[in-house]
Amino acid sequence: MALKLLVSTRNPHKLREIIAIMAPLGIDLVSLDAFPDAPDVDEDRPTLEGNAAKKAEELHAFSGLPTIADDTGLEVAALGGAPGVHSARFAGDDANDEANRALLLSRLRDMDDRRARFRTVIALATDSGTRFFQGVCNGEIIREDRGSGGFGYDPVFRPDGYEETFAEMASETKNIISHRGRALQAFADAFDPEMLNNPTREETP
Ligand code: IMP
Repeated sequence: MALKLLVSTRNPHKLREIIAIMAPLGIDLVSLDAFPDAPDVDEDRPTLEGNAAKKAEELHAFSGLPTIADDTGLEVAALGGAPGVHSARFAGDDANDEANRALLLSRLRDMDDRRARFRTVIALATDSGTRFFQGVCNGEIIREDRGSGGFGYDPVFRPDGYEETFAEMASETKNIISHRGRALQAFADAFDPEMLNNPTREETP
């Protein structure tokens, strides 16, 4: 009997990335599509850890399955770690990716320190409590958009060790070095079936 794990996303791109890394672990991954009535969790905590844990714990309580949830932020050194947990809404509640990038570039216009990092936190909620896994990708914010792939801040983020921005890279390359890829890999590296220990799961007779 395969161990089930609920992945709290409906984003097909994220799901594909997760399946690729988790497939060898022998886990039966279930997406939120299997729970159409699942609650929408308000990401109102002040930290990535807080939001990831809140999402994972509420959906674990709803589904009864061990559940993972992630939250990501772009942390810019010269801005004291902003936009961080507010990355999606940096330029306002209805802001799109372009507006968020334009605000970031204008805040950094006169700054020489362009260091930034993406950080992803994955929370795993089970009946035994909540554990965290983290992935970081260090880089810098360039001075104007470059590239048309990816999403969010990809056109202005150049990871250390590469000439291209995330938006100029093949998605396969980005997935290997990205914050999200590394957080998933940290989960996979630490994985032990006992981690999903959930008294409600079905046992092999
Ligand atoms: P989420 O937690 O994955 O929804 O990410 C929050 C916000 O961080 C997104 O709305 C994007 O603005 C930004 N972000 C997350 N991951 C990436 C990425 O891989 N590239 C660029 N921006 C990202």
